[in-house]
Amino acid sequence: MNTIKIDKYTFAEFISADKIAQRISELGEQITTDYKDKTPIVIGVLNGSVIFFSDLIREIKCDVEIDFLRISSYEKAMESSGVIKVHKDLNSEIEGRHIIIVEDIVDSGLSVRFLKAKLEKSNPASLKVASLLLKPTEAQIDFPIDYTGFEIPPAFVIGYGLDYNQKFRNLKSIYSLVLDENGKEES
Ligand code: 5GP
Repeated sequence: MNTIKIDKYTFAEFISADKIAQRISELGEQITTDYKDKTPIVIGVLNGSVIFFSDLIREIKCDVEIDFLRISSYEKAMESSGVIKVHKDLNSEIEGRHIIIVEDIVDSGLSVRFLKAKLEKSNPASLKVASLLLKPTEAQIDFPIDYTGFEIPPAFVIGYGLDYNQKFRNLKSIYSLVLDENGKEES
């Protein structure tokens, strides 16, 4: 098993770089079909989505514009603070435009719910969400994630944009925290 030790934790490779690339190509095809003859603004949610975002937009074969938002909800390494702060807002006018929000992961669903409500106030023509990862047992949202890469169990993951204390975003694969038979983090 391909594992990494970080502090006292063990992370094991969970989704390989090849599998990620394959799935993103499928998502790109789906988005290309859905937005044929339109020019959506694809909005990356910094920092976590940056790698997924850059791979995804290159798999979309219609015109796109891009913009970024930066929000934060995680103050500690592995748990959400529950409070969302906007650190960088959009530069584009989104009224009447087709918008695709690109997230790295939907966990509690708090961030994506906050973002949807925020952008809907500006009356876009349409608003969809793409997320590379979805933790279905945790997500408390009453709307669909329109483009989902992978549904995963609720373990903490890193790599391919996702961090542990701001590091390890540059891993090419996604790694998952290994738990022992008692559900505790394995050390
Ligand atoms: P939510 O608001 O849905 O609980 O969480 C959204 C944000 O929390 C994500 O955009 C991501 O930055 C962070 N997050 C949630 N789960 C994980 C995880 O398993 N690993 C990492 N590195 N970040 C996560």
